[in-house]
Amino acid sequence: MSHISTILEQTSFSSADLQQLLLCDGEEKRLLFKKSGEVKDLNVGNKVYFRGLIEFSNVCDKDCYYCGIRKSNRTARRYNLTDTEILDAARFADENKFGSVVLQSGENSSPAFSDRIERLVRQIKHISEGRLGITLSVGEQTETVYRRWFEAGAHRYLLRIETTNPLLYHKIHPDDELHDFNHRLDCLHSLQRLGYQVGTGVMIGLPFQTTADLANDLLFFQQFGIDMVGMGPYIEHSETPLYEFRHELLPIQERFDLSLKMIAILRILMKDINIAAATALQAIDPLGREKGVKVGANIIMPNITPGFYRNDYSLYQNKPCIDEEPAQCKGCLDARIALADGEIGYGEWGDSKHFMKNKENNELKN
Ligand code: SAM
Ligand code: SF4
Repeated sequence: MSHISTILEQTSFSSADLQQLLLCDGEEKRLLFKKSGEVKDLNVGNKVYFRGLIEFSNVCDKDCYYCGIRKSNRTARRYNLTDTEILDAARFADENKFGSVVLQSGENSSPAFSDRIERLVRQIKHISEGRLGITLSVGEQTETVYRRWFEAGAHRYLLRIETTNPLLYHKIHPDDELHDFNHRLDCLHSLQRLGYQVGTGVMIGLPFQTTADLANDLLFFQQFGIDMVGMGPYIEHSETPLYEFRHELLPIQERFDLSLKMIAILRILMKDINIAAATALQAIDPLGREKGVKVGANIIMPNITPGFYRNDYSLYQNKPCIDEEPAQCKGCLDARIALADGEIGYGEWGDSKHFMKNKENNELKN
């Protein structure tokens, strides 16, 4: 029996074990993907849940060194959807039985922004008669603001930690209080305390990132008790400071491969969480998200931002599906998920089983 198959039989994993899995190739990689597919079928089944992604604004107060819509990128054409456009997109999601929407944007901590999000959450709940689940992904905010949005009806929040190595975090962000690793971590704790289903994630294949960093990221997800993870390959953007280090990067195909291995290993490590197949996978391989589903992911976030704006939410280059309208996107996904032996959970929220189990256990204790 190969060393990898011995590791795959274990029930707990050290950083060294995870690094071995991350480095495996050939027949060993096939074994890893077989195992993760089995763990997925057994624990979360073959259902894939949709989260209609509304990238409602690319205006951002922050300057992350990797991101194409960072504040200092003067070449980015800025937009901010109107409330009507956002509500129309939500209506589209509801009518097409997507089950949930994600409101995502650049970061803004003004009172006007928090009021607007609160109002939009209430309106989306109202127009869908409570049918649509709402995930927010609008960055670091105060606990008070997170609470207001939760009380308005948002019940999931995505905030990627980006990397759990504070030194690496420091290298890929400006050194100021707007970009503080500990503050980001505090935000994740606030969200968990408030009762959100909390999602985080990392970029895979960043310059200066090591295999040990990625293994520690996986252990962090487990120790934190995260409910959802969305992680994908880092893809360079020419109008960002990190572009200077593009020669240090793994070839793009290897970053893709490493991302699939991260998904597969995470599924083995955290059997009942929700794992999203990130759009960045599809930017590298046209069937990237479906491959993610095959090895362990169970969430897809079809982009339902009106097509006109999609090109401008350009975090990295070669973003997929930017020319399509939402309706075209849906038809194409039906066929794609079937190819990955998945079945779409139309009209279902598809909440994280991990979150639900924890909630039940806590209620029993109290
Ligand atoms: N502003 C919010 C935040 O940062 O949490 C939400 C939107 S932000 C664009 C969503 C995610 O995009 C980030 O968490 C980051 O991981 C990802 N991202 C940004 N630039 C990227 C790049 N060049 N390659 C891959 N992912 C990137
Ligand atoms: Fe802004 Fe988010 Fe991009 Fe950072 S990753 S620059 S916070 S949109």
